[in-house]
Amino acid sequence: MIIINILHIGIDDTDSPDGMCTTYLASQIINKFEENGIELVDYPRLIRLNPFARFKTRGNGGVSLRIPNDNNVDLAKKIVLDEVEKLSMFDCDNTNPGVIFYDGEITKEMEDYAFKAIYEFITIEEAEEFGRSIGCEIHKFKKGRGIIGSIAAISLPLEDYTFELLAYRASENYGTKRQIDYESVYEMDNETFPDTFENIDYSENYIAIEPKTPCPVLYGIRSNTVESLMKAKKIVKVSEHIVDWCIFKTNQHTDMHIQKVNDISSMKQFGCYEFIGEVKNKPTIIDGGHMFFYLFDETGEIECGAYEPTKNFRKVVSDLRPGDVIKVYGGIGKQNTFNIEKFQVIKLNDIEYRNPICECGKRMTSAGKNKGFKCKKCGNKIQSNEKVPISVTRFLKNSQFYETPVSARRHLSKPLCRMNYN
Ligand code: ATP
Repeated sequence: MIIINILHIGIDDTDSPDGMCTTYLASQIINKFEENGIELVDYPRLIRLNPFARFKTRGNGGVSLRIPNDNNVDLAKKIVLDEVEKLSMFDCDNTNPGVIFYDGEITKEMEDYAFKAIYEFITIEEAEEFGRSIGCEIHKFKKGRGIIGSIAAISLPLEDYTFELLAYRASENYGTKRQIDYESVYEMDNETFPDTFENIDYSENYIAIEPKTPCPVLYGIRSNTVESLMKAKKIVKVSEHIVDWCIFKTNQHTDMHIQKVNDISSMKQFGCYEFIGEVKNKPTIIDGGHMFFYLFDETGEIECGAYEPTKNFRKVVSDLRPGDVIKVYGGIGKQNTFNIEKFQVIKLNDIEYRNPICECGKRMTSAGKNKGFKCKKCGNKIQSNEKVPISVTRFLKNSQFYETPVSARRHLSKPLCRMNYN
C-alpha cells in the first residue's frame, strides 16, 4: 500500500448574504492548483456543520481540500491564502475567514472535534487552542471565526456521503434572475431521480436546484453518485454562461446532525435528535399557520412543531391523535420546540372509545356520572358505564415515514429516498 503524506486545507466563513460562496472560492483555488500542476487527492469536500450556529450565512458549510504534501506545498498555501484574501466578502461584519493547513493523520480527537462542531457550539478560542494542540497552521482573517468550521471540515470522517455538482455564473450576472430552463430540470429529475434528489418540490412547483441568493451559484444538483451528476448536467439547459463547475463530496443529506436518544429528558436546546414518543394531544394550528402538539415518554414531554414553511406536511401531522407512538427526527430551536424534519409511525392508536349504540340504532348519551347511558330517542337505559371500542380509519400508516417537503428541508436531513443508505 502506498501511503501518501497529505496536506489538508480547511476554508470557511468567506461569504456574506450579499455574495460569494466558499465553494466558489474553493473552485477558483482548484483551477489555480491545476494551472500549477497541483492535483487534489479525492474530491473537494463540502461539510455542513451545526444548523443552529449563530453566525452562519446560510447553510453553515465549510470546505476542505486535500493535496499531496510534496514540493508544491508552499505554492499551494500561497494560492489558498491569496484567493481567500482576494475573494472573501471582508466588508461584511459577519465575514471572518479562517484557513487551516494540517499535514498529519486525522486522529480520533479531531473526529470528535468535528462531531462537536455538528452537535454543539465551539468558540474561536477553543478552536484555536485545539488547532494549535494538534499542530495546525492557522490563518485568521479579521476575527478568524472560520477556523472553527475549517478544522471541522478537514477532520470529519465521511462514512455516508453524497455529492453535489455546483455550476457557477459569470460575475456580471450575479444578482440577476438565473436563466435556467425549468422544463429541462423536470426532465433531469425524471431521468435521474432517485440517484439525484432534492431537485424539485412537486407540491410547490419549486425548483430546488436554483439558489435564491445573489451568490455565484447558478445551480446545485445533489446525488448519490458522480455518474448521475454528469448525466444530470447534460440534461439541464441554461441560457447563461457557466464559467465553472465543481463536484463536492459532502455530508449533506446523511442525517449526521441527528443524535439518537432514548428519553426526552436527555435532549438539549439547539441539539438535533431522533427519539420515540407518544402523542399527548391533537395537533393544533396557530396564527401564522404553525402546527404544534406534545410528545411524551416516562421521562418528560416536549412541544413539537411543523412550521408554516413545511406546507402540506402539516396536513400529514394533523392526522396524529393521542396515543399514537412515533419516532421523530429534528432539532430543538430558539423557541425550545422540537422542529420536526421527518417521522416514522411506530404504532397508530386506531381505536376510539364511544358511547354505546342503543337497540333502536341511536348513539346513547351519558345518564350522569356513574349512571350508565340513556337513549334520547326511545328512553332505553343501561347501567354499565363502559364505552365501546370502535376502530378509526387513519390516513397515516404503521411503519411508514413522512417527511417535510424539499422546499423546507435542511442540508443535512436525509430524505426518505436515501433511508437505505448507511
Ligand atoms: P454558506 O451558505 O456559503 O455555506 P455559511 O452558512 O457556511 O455560508 P459561514 O459564512 O461559513 O456561513 O459562517 C458560519 C460560521 O460559523 C463560520 O465562521 C464557522 O466557522 C462557524 N461555525 C461552524 N460551526 C460552528 C459551531 N458548531 N459552533 C460555533 N461556530 C461554528
